[in-house]
Amino acid sequence: MGGGILILTLPILDNHMHLNPSGRCLDAVREFARAGGTHIVLVSLPPWSLGIDINSPEDYRKVFDKILKIARRAQEAEKVKVFVVLGVHPAELTKYYGRLGLSRSVEIMRGGLEIARKYVVEGRAVGLKSGRPHYEVEPGIWDASNDIMRYGFELAKDAGCAVQLHTESATEEGLAGIAGIARSVGLPDGRVIKHFSPPMVKICEKHGIFPSVLAGENAIETALGEGTRFMMETDYIDDLERPGSVLGPKTVPRRTKQLIGKWGEDVFWKVHKENPEKVYGVEIDI
Ligand SMILES: [Zn+2]
Repeated sequence: MGGGILILTLPILDNHMHLNPSGRCLDAVREFARAGGTHIVLVSLPPWSLGIDINSPEDYRKVFDKILKIARRAQEAEKVKVFVVLGVHPAELTKYYGRLGLSRSVEIMRGGLEIARKYVVEGRAVGLKSGRPHYEVEPGIWDASNDIMRYGFELAKDAGCAVQLHTESATEEGLAGIAGIARSVGLPDGRVIKHFSPPMVKICEKHGIFPSVLAGENAIETALGEGTRFMMETDYIDDLERPGSVLGPKTVPRRTKQLIGKWGEDVFWKVHKENPEKVYGVEIDI
């Protein structure tokens, strides 16, 4: 009798997944949960992936409502908690400006971010998504992309939330530039998340950026070698036409369990619970 041992189950969070009703959707969630995954940060897909045309900011509501519905269904179907991140994808600008003109495209994407901010304030989402192209673009598009990203930072500051960024490949110079933009609008350090990040834990910390490390190959071990200030992700895109183009839904739980033997559980309590709690202002419990 008395004082049994309390065994706490480690939460396991994938910080960047997509789910698409035309993909594996709930099957992917089941796979994640069965592998030991407990929390998903579900990031909005570009509108065209959901078959939605964007002609005005209001059209983003259709995108966001669809993502929220998928999140609800995933939570009902499996024992997982889903946090939603909503916003715009930098590739949208490249896609829209030929048809809508650059200034109208920027206006629409800024409007989309404003709507995403409302969803955050209403407690339906935990963060915004923005960024700039990962491929070479003409200077006008680059400048406009930076403007949209800066506006995303302003809205995040107002809402007191984090922003996940899709950007060019991480270099210290690029990260320092992004951090400078975030600081210029007063967004606190640690609220900018570099999605699809290499294991640059120390460099990110130096610039106040929070890395979401892609859990491929040896990246997580390399990250752990530098510290525990990072989250893990797959960027699972849930596109049946591009199987194997990204990491599968089991990757984060599997990798975590694999590495516990060598690194112990404590570091993963930090990665999967303390870090996301701090970055998003949420509670991670099982
Ligand atoms: Zn993504």
